[in-house]
Amino acid sequence: MTDPADVPVLDVRRMSKVYGEGDTAVHALREVDLLVRRGEYVAVVGQSGSGKSTLLNILGCLDGPTSGRYLLDGLDVADLDERQQSVLRNRQIGFIFQSFNLIPRTSAFANVELPMVYAGVSRRDRRRRTLAALDVVGLSHRTESRPNQLSGGQQQRVAVARALVTRPALLLADDPTGNLDSASTADVLDLFDNLHATGRTIVLITHDHEVAERADRTVTVTDGRLTEQAGARP
Ligand code: ADP
Ligand code: MG
Repeated sequence: MTDPADVPVLDVRRMSKVYGEGDTAVHALREVDLLVRRGEYVAVVGQSGSGKSTLLNILGCLDGPTSGRYLLDGLDVADLDERQQSVLRNRQIGFIFQSFNLIPRTSAFANVELPMVYAGVSRRDRRRRTLAALDVVGLSHRTESRPNQLSGGQQQRVAVARALVTRPALLLADDPTGNLDSASTADVLDLFDNLHATGRTIVLITHDHEVAERADRTVTVTDGRLTEQAGARP
């Protein structure tokens, strides 16, 4: 028996993604292999159009591969129907986007609470976990603030709290510092460092090498192919 803790969070094998067909087909990913173990912090870098978001969308079960295998926490995603995939997405993955994707005119508290409403968590537990998540990101004093009353860095911290609150196996971030100034970028990166130190598994896409340097490992996407940096930890 394999110890559940040894099951990789992500196990991607020869995965390809083609958009469209015939003359206009775009080969966005070409036979990509990627293994991410529990507690790892992995940065995915590459130029615009190289296939980073395509990869992240598939890892997050927002889209399916054209071919190849993808195991999330030991489960073959292809074996699941759409409803099972959406349950898996809700339970196992916390998403963080460049543009925060918070609900406008809604408090930080309500934004963070929402994924637990979908997951059927009791009101009392929702309240406790929402306040704890906002505390982790240093926003206990802004629970009633709406997104437009918060700075970009604070909005992204609310988005991180929302991603954390369902206790996902994996945090997936697509260019989370792309809309932030350098001070807010530093805050959000410190937050990721803390999450990593407490055992979270993080896969972060960025085109900024200074951001990538904070991770354990960097993988580079070039024209849909993935290469691991020399000197990366095994
Ligand atoms: P990145 O995030 O690295 O900028 P993407 O994954 O968004 O790259 O895109 C990789 C390639 O796939 C690009 O050539 C892009 O134009 C193409 N692409 C992305 N999404 C689609 C789509 N939905 N339909 C067709 N082509 C797409
Ligand atoms: Mg992208």
